[in-house]
Amino acid sequence: MCLFCKIVNKEIPANIVLENKNFLAFHDINPKAPVHILTIPKLHVDSFNEVTGETMAGMTAFIQELVKEVEIDTSGYRVISNVGDNGGQEVKHLHFHILGGAKLKWDHFSDADPKDFL
Ligand code: 5GP
Ligand code: ZN
Repeated sequence: MCLFCKIVNKEIPANIVLENKNFLAFHDINPKAPVHILTIPKLHVDSFNEVTGETMAGMTAFIQELVKEVEIDTSGYRVISNVGDNGGQEVKHLHFHILGGAKLKWDHFSDADPKDFL
C-alpha cells in the first residue's frame, strides 16, 4: 500500500484539514509556503495521467471548499500536481499541492535555457 493510502487508512498520522467521502486534505510534512496542503482522492490513482474527469470534478469542488476554509481564496494560491520523473513526483498517489499564505515566487523551473525551445 502506498504512503498516501496509509494516510487515508489512518495507518500513518497526518494533520488533516478537510475530509469528505472521496477526498482528503492534509498539511505537507515539509511545507514550501506558509500554507502548503496536499489534496488527494481517497481511492488510489497513480498520477494526473490516470485520473478521470469525474474524480477531477469532485476534486475541483473539494479544493474550492478547502481554500475558503483556510481563507486563502481571495488572497490567492497555487494548485500544482507533479507528474512523473520530469515533474518531480515523489509519491505515486495523485495529489495537488495547494500553496499560499504569502506571495509565491514564479521562476525558471529547469536549468535548460527556455530560449532554446522557441
Ligand atoms: P511530490 O514531490 O510527489 O509532488 O510531493 C510529495 C509531497 O509529499 C512532498 O511535498 C512531501 O513533503 C510530502 N510528504 C512526503 N511524505 C509525507 C508524509 O508522510 N506526510 C505528509 N503530510 N506529507 C508528506
Ligand atoms: Zn495510494
